[in-house]
Amino acid sequence: MLRLKRGHERARVHPWIFKGDVADVSDNVEPGGTVTVVDSTGRFVGRGLFNARPALCCRLLTWTDESIDGDFWRRRVATAVAARAGRAAAARLVWSEADALAGLVIDRYGPVVVLQTVTLGIARRRAEVAAALRAAIGDVAVYCGDDPTAAALEGFEPAAGWLDATGPTSVVIEEGPVRLLVRIGGGHKTGLYLDQTDNRLRVAPLAAARAVLDVFAYTAGFACHALQAGATSAICIESSKDALAGAVDNLALNGVAERAELRDTNAFDELRRLERAGHRFGLIVLDPPPFARGRTAVEGALRGYKEINLRAVRLLEPSGVLATFSCSYHVSPDAFEAMVREAASDAGVRLRVVAPLTQSADHPALLTVPETRYLKGLLLRRLA
Ligand code: SAH
Repeated sequence: MLRLKRGHERARVHPWIFKGDVADVSDNVEPGGTVTVVDSTGRFVGRGLFNARPALCCRLLTWTDESIDGDFWRRRVATAVAARAGRAAAARLVWSEADALAGLVIDRYGPVVVLQTVTLGIARRRAEVAAALRAAIGDVAVYCGDDPTAAALEGFEPAAGWLDATGPTSVVIEEGPVRLLVRIGGGHKTGLYLDQTDNRLRVAPLAAARAVLDVFAYTAGFACHALQAGATSAICIESSKDALAGAVDNLALNGVAERAELRDTNAFDELRRLERAGHRFGLIVLDPPPFARGRTAVEGALRGYKEINLRAVRLLEPSGVLATFSCSYHVSPDAFEAMVREAASDAGVRLRVVAPLTQSADHPALLTVPETRYLKGLLLRRLA
């Protein structure tokens, strides 16, 4: 039993309980074990998984008085999977708090799923979770790939291998008309930036007959889509050798390699060089890594974002399109928009807002859990 302090009842709508919220916890709750949470008057709030080690010591899984057993996992995972019905074979099936499965991420790449556990409690239940998943989608190979930072914080050994039966080392998935190669257990995230799937599909048609610049390209997902949709050329800027190797594969896989050029370099420097050389592009995608990993880093991050956005705006031809993103949760949508506005003012360029952009629909957001919405973007068109 975990009792909340008076006035610390955010847990009714948000699954995170910090040590500072806790009045007391009974001694018999083991690390990673389930705990019943009550408010200061003893009223039931919910049930979750407990770990005394990190400051974020409990994440609620249910607000109903039900046990967290095999049946629970089967129901929850089935609900999450059903919510992705109709999506392609590569999709995020479970998105942690947003699916009331705090601490668990599951991405599917065709016959393989990658399971990422963020808490000790979930890590201990990998086999149960995998069984629930197989009950929902049939037999799949399950690769466990945990984030080492989260594992260190929670005090468990990060998994990096197959749960039981061995699966393929790489998978080719279809994302609309584009084929992308995913190396299981390699690359960033669980293999692909699935949070950008909807944006890749959305931006591609705008690339027809245009020269494209894909900045922070990773494995050239945006460039493959743009070239497939009829872009005349694409320059991809990426500083990771592994990512570039993936980009080579993907461009070849889609038969568009001869119109693409990979630049293995720092995006900040390369944008400056392109500007000096007088280049212009009809579509620019700016999809940087999170510049702000914490609240205190926001100011510096905004300077970085502004620099690349300023350069990108200057590189846009009249009526050219810019798709610009930030995946830093701590940079708010308002701060992001203000930063792009300043960049446009400094460049003396007028931009129409074609659409605000966000993470793919298989990464839903909860209003009461703002942390579930981290990716923001703007689709902008330069006025002549
Ligand atoms: N647009 C990609 C995802 C980009 S993630 C997609 O749709 O798949 C951000 C990428 O930026 C990562 O691949 C990372 O290796 C790269 N990166 C980080 N810092 C960089 C820098 N200074 N210059 C160039 N690339 C960088």
